Formats: sequence, structure tokens, C-alpha cells
Amino acid sequence: MDRPVDPQIAQIEKCISFIKNPTVAALPEAKKFVEDSTVPDFVGIPGDTEIKNEDSAAEQIIKTGKAICRMKMTNGVFGNISARVGDRIIVTETGSSLAELENSIVVCDLGGKPLNSRKPSCEISSHVRIYRETKSNCVVHCHPFFMIANSLLYDEPEIFGFPVIKAEIGDGPNGISSFILPAILEKKLAIVYGHGVFTMGNDNFSEQLKAIYDLEYTLCRDKFTSEISRLLKI
Ligand SMILES: [Zn+2]
Repeated sequence: MDRPVDPQIAQIEKCISFIKNPTVAALPEAKKFVEDSTVPDFVGIPGDTEIKNEDSAAEQIIKTGKAICRMKMTNGVFGNISARVGDRIIVTETGSSLAELENSIVVCDLGGKPLNSRKPSCEISSHVRIYRETKSNCVVHCHPFFMIANSLLYDEPEIFGFPVIKAEIGDGPNGISSFILPAILEKKLAIVYGHGVFTMGNDNFSEQLKAIYDLEYTLCRDKFTSEISRLLKI
């Protein structure tokens, strides 16, 4: 099945090719990239963040999706969010935009089988795996630009102490769901090489949003833009 390619990857690859081969012709675009790269303020989830039942899970997922988009921690439709409530998984619909999840919530059983007419995220198998093997009740997956950029540029097993896994979208022997555990267990955050990040939390999404924000904007962004800035001064 064809899946849409995150257009951020093309921009990241352009930046990396400049870092590896800083030609004069590419200088203006690299300079503009650094100048345009601002850090959004951290926005948490407004109001009560407790997940008590399926309705409040859906509400928290919708608010979390909006917060991720406001902080520019994913690109449009890319990402998925879920919560476990009793013997149900409440999860975002496949192809849905994290900014507008109001009509894109799917209720599944604990195996990831949908119980309403919507189709769950194509990454449901990773969420199922996390719920099956941990006590976590909340999972976020999104595509933060600078985490992806760092994973591609350095190609190392860890970024700032967080594990990087190499895996394909979905399930199967090479799929993310086959690698997400045990990578995510210790730090509750794992980066997928060239793709994005998964986080898990206990009872709400607040800590995960802060963890993604801090790694993206205080560590990964600084490292990546300083690589480019260093070359611009030559
Ligand atoms: Zn993804």
C-alpha cells in the first residue's frame, strides 16, 4: 500500500546535503532556513488533562493533536495518538490531521480491531504492542523536523541518550511494532530513523508533549542549526 511521504524529508535532505557539501550556490537557501527556524512557545493542554473514560480520552487526544501542531512538532497529517481505557484503545483515524481530530477518533479493542466504522492509524500495531507489554495508557507518535534531521545526519543508535530504531512503517518483521519495544521502555521515548518519534506516558499526555518539545527545540534544533550556522560563517 502506498503511503504519503512526509514532505519535510525533502527539506531535511536538502539541509544535510548542504552540511556535507556547502556549496556557494546553496548558501542563500541555507541562510534563509536558519533565519526562518524559530522556536515556538511551549503550549500545554488547557484545562483538565485527566483521562477518565472513552469521552475524556477522545477529548485529550484532540487537544494533544492541536498542541502538537501549534508547536510545529509534526507536519499536517503525520502522526497518531492513542489512549487505553479499560479494554478499549481510543486512537486517531488513518490519514487524519492532528490539528483537526474532532471527527477522526476510532474505538478499537485491545488487539487494535476497530469497533466503529472508522479505520485506525496505520501505526496501531505499535500502540497495541506498547499497551500489551507495559502499563502505559497514552501513546503519541509525531514527526518532529529536527529529531528526524538529527537521525538522518548522524545515523547513530542514540540521539542525546534517546534510542534510535531503524524500522519500516507498520507491522511485520521489519515494522516499527517489532522494534519499538524494548527501545521505548527506559526513557519512554524512542526515535524512528528518518521518520519521527514515539512516546508513552502513564495517565495523560502532558509529560510526553514536554519531552518531545524539549528534545526537539532545546537539543535537536540547536545541534542541527549550529551545524549549518558554522558553515555559513566560513
Ligand atoms: Zn509516522
